[in-house]
Amino acid sequence: MLAPLVAALTLVSPATPAAPLAAPVVVVDPGHDLRANLATEPIGPGSTVRKIKDGGGTAGEAQVVLAVSLRLRTLLQRAGLRVVMTRTRTDSTSMGNVARARIANRAGAALFLRVHADGSTSSASRGTHTLYPVYRRGWTDDVYDASARAARLVQRALVAATGAADDGVVERSDFTGFNWANVPVILVEMGFMTNPTEDRLLATAAYRERAAVGLCRGTLRFLRRPVAACG
Ligand SMILES: [Zn+2]
Repeated sequence: MLAPLVAALTLVSPATPAAPLAAPVVVVDPGHDLRANLATEPIGPGSTVRKIKDGGGTAGEAQVVLAVSLRLRTLLQRAGLRVVMTRTRTDSTSMGNVARARIANRAGAALFLRVHADGSTSSASRGTHTLYPVYRRGWTDDVYDASARAARLVQRALVAATGAADDGVVERSDFTGFNWANVPVILVEMGFMTNPTEDRLLATAAYRERAAVGLCRGTLRFLRRPVAACG
């Protein structure tokens, strides 16, 4: 009876390996847009606290962060990931931060990566830091751990690629785009456009390339994929 048993087992065993899972989606969110949006929106789901949708970035920020983000899209796609952009042009009134988070939620993003550059009243302020949501039950408890891990990995890879001063990672409770996110979310402040040295660097294609490569490497580390694909 041995031969028929083997034949039966062969019949029920899978003939082909499982189909590969669909590639993860990264939602890349270049901050701001051409115009600020001074309408308000709740800071989190169900909150009575409202914040301006988008006060507008520092001068020139919307264009710089879009350039880096578009390059990042190319690098991530080459690495085999799917990418959804919250915007691909700088020509409108900002959609606000609830809308950005909803794009990431709908996409089922493995990472919602928000790209910004900073401004300060002091021209001496400099450096790169990465923000992620503070733990709050009902809002961010489901994405806190992954967001914190993503922030550390992306911050480390970004400063390694650019050589910028490393100002570490910071938790924030007051970011509408964090509180509405149901997916891991971070916001990178690449540098200060009010700092003459960093502003000059951020204006160069070479530095933008290094920044995009660093963001790509950090994202792939977070997704546990080989970073060599980023170049
Ligand atoms: Zn900004």
